[in-house]
Amino acid sequence: MQTRTLFISAGHSDADPGAVGNGYTEADIVLEFRDLLAGALRARGVEFSKDGEPGQNLPLSKAWRLAATQDIALEFHCNAFRAATATGVETLSWPGQMDLGGRICNVISETLDIANRGAKGEASGQHSRLAFVSRGGGIIVELFFISNPQDVARYQRWKLQLAEVLAELLAEEVMCAD
Ligand SMILES: [Zn+2]
Repeated sequence: MQTRTLFISAGHSDADPGAVGNGYTEADIVLEFRDLLAGALRARGVEFSKDGEPGQNLPLSKAWRLAATQDIALEFHCNAFRAATATGVETLSWPGQMDLGGRICNVISETLDIANRGAKGEASGQHSRLAFVSRGGGIIVELFFISNPQDVARYQRWKLQLAEVLAELLAEEVMCAD
């Protein structure tokens, strides 16, 4: 019995591609991943909403409004840094969401075999102070560094499996009593 609502969102939009690195834009990666995750959630019978139809990524200004109505809301991004060696996954959220954020970091770090930077506060990282967290109460998931060739290669190799393990974690979360 599903007791909590879930919203998954792809960061950025067609008009705002986000960071660029190693032949990819952030918007393209997170849109594809949102759709992979949607398929894996559907296969588990999890009910959820998302920021657009398959292949469609609504602008952030609409995503936070949707996030605010949900028990669990995730928005996917990629990190970027001038040094190509910067690596790993992290989440940004309010303190009340850091426990789940930490569990999300764990499965992403293990599946992609990249560093675990952990669950951080809203003011950390390049995507700090986004409305998705500050007004939507959601969790920003910085999947990996798009500026790091090894992070990108590992993501491309393991993205299908990553969608499955994250869907498994979320399927358990939405059944929780609180
Ligand atoms: Zn971003």
